[in-house]
Amino acid sequence: GNIEMDSEEHCCVNVAVHIRPLIEDERLQGCKECVVVVPGKPQVQIGSHSFTFDHVYGSTCSPSSAMFDECVAPLVDGLFDGYNATVLAYGQTGSGKTYTMGTGFKESSQTGLIPQVMNALFSKIETLKHHAEFHLRVSFIEILKEEVKDLLDSTTFCKVEFCNGQVGKVATPGKSPVQIRESSNGIITLSGSTEVDVSTQNEMAACLEQGSISRATGSTNMNNQSSRSHAIFTITLEQLQKINPCYTADGSPIEEINEDFLCAKLHLVDLAGSERAKRTGSDGLRFKEGVHINKGLLALGNVISALGDERKRKEGAHVPYRDSKLTRLLQDSLGGNSRTVMIACISPADINAEETLNTLKYANRAR
Ligand code: ADP
Ligand code: MG
Repeated sequence: GNIEMDSEEHCCVNVAVHIRPLIEDERLQGCKECVVVVPGKPQVQIGSHSFTFDHVYGSTCSPSSAMFDECVAPLVDGLFDGYNATVLAYGQTGSGKTYTMGTGFKESSQTGLIPQVMNALFSKIETLKHHAEFHLRVSFIEILKEEVKDLLDSTTFCKVEFCNGQVGKVATPGKSPVQIRESSNGIITLSGSTEVDVSTQNEMAACLEQGSISRATGSTNMNNQSSRSHAIFTITLEQLQKINPCYTADGSPIEEINEDFLCAKLHLVDLAGSERAKRTGSDGLRFKEGVHINKGLLALGNVISALGDERKRKEGAHVPYRDSKLTRLLQDSLGGNSRTVMIACISPADINAEETLNTLKYANRAR
């Protein structure tokens, strides 16, 4: 497919804030809410600080249909026009990233953003199926300590109990290393990771569930390492468009005059917890992991702020994609003609005020 370079379309990250409600644990600790949403404005205040974003979703809603419609649906539509896209959930551990994305296998498996993406994608395909042929693939990987792991690796299994009570097998995070490759035309691919061809929504949902369980139960996830890894669910849409078909009176095509091939991917990213690494282990091991995770989040922040800086971009400034595995993997889907949404997830509780402020500052840099 050919995509026109249109400077109007160029970048800029759409930034939304999602404030979850106080959770039981916070209530029991007697926490008070310390985040104020300015009525009628996409503006949040914490202490003496005030930030304006593209959207703010308050603490009463779960990943609402408004969040999906306003932030993510345009990206799904863009896929059909050949535009790559990325949705990033950023925030400290416990702020609601997994809940917002729907990458936990028990919670929000219907209401999270990824399940809503699947609904939108399959209903759009249903309406367009007479005009084009569609092929969908998914991959689900995790980046931990600058290593890429396949969450859909079908060669290693562990036994789990699914939420419907059935017992089954899921992949444990892949043993073989996954490599990130860049082709001569700038397309990023993974080698050594599973790509599953899916033809139904149920098949796609099964991949999400399998990978989510794998992330939560895999051997690398002892000591809650999932909060230190980035989980990336990627949907690739290929379409063979039938351009200008001629129809008979009853509407069936006589002849396909022309065909156009389009391919685009959507990365749905549940980022590692953004909290500052604490030097807890006597051997300093955990600290090292923290450093690695910060490497991804740090590089992401630098890439996004470089993209958002119009003056720098016009001067063709260097965008530091190569500084981490995360930004390397997302390279062809961040900036350029692709669309990016960052959802900054925050807790409203006063005990989290410091990390919440850090999250709002990070998100503010992206605009
Ligand atoms: P993270 O992935 O950022 O570590 P989680 O998504 O696991 O955070 O959420 C932490 C806790 O908060 C979970 O117990 C989850 O049920 C709860 N939670 C998160 N977002 C919401 C929400 N919008 N509504 C209700 N509960 C939420
Ligand atoms: Mg999580």
